[in-house]
Amino acid sequence: MDNCIFCKIINGQIPAAVVYEDDRVIAFKDINPVAPVHIIIIPREHIASVNDLTVENAGVLTDIFLAAQKIAEKMGIADKGYRLINNCGADAGQTVFHMHFHLLGGIVLGPKII
Ligand code: AMP
Ligand code: ZN
Repeated sequence: MDNCIFCKIINGQIPAAVVYEDDRVIAFKDINPVAPVHIIIIPREHIASVNDLTVENAGVLTDIFLAAQKIAEKMGIADKGYRLINNCGADAGQTVFHMHFHLLGGIVLGPKII
């Protein structure tokens, strides 16, 4: 997708601190971290948001969650715990319209959701 910042990271047009990749998923450090571990996990396929998931493409959710499991292990937070967050749409604060999950950890996370 033209003008998608995360597609540009996938294509190597924009640098990123990649921590994990396979043939369907890539993960990199968030440029503006809000926790000691803050990783963005994205599918290589451009899917704008959760609203654009279909029966055909929803397999990427499995890929993303299995990647999260591996990344958490690699970062040493698998046992301590971590949070996976997806923002869908304007009210949720989605700013990059290439579906992604935030993996947050390395600190005791608060209960706040708004
Ligand atoms: P969201 O608000 O859920 O759309 O989250 C987008 C996230 O992408 C934010 O936490 C940004 O800090 C992060 N982000 C934006 N551009 C980049 C980039 N070039 N490299 C790494 N993270 C980025
Ligand atoms: Zn994209």
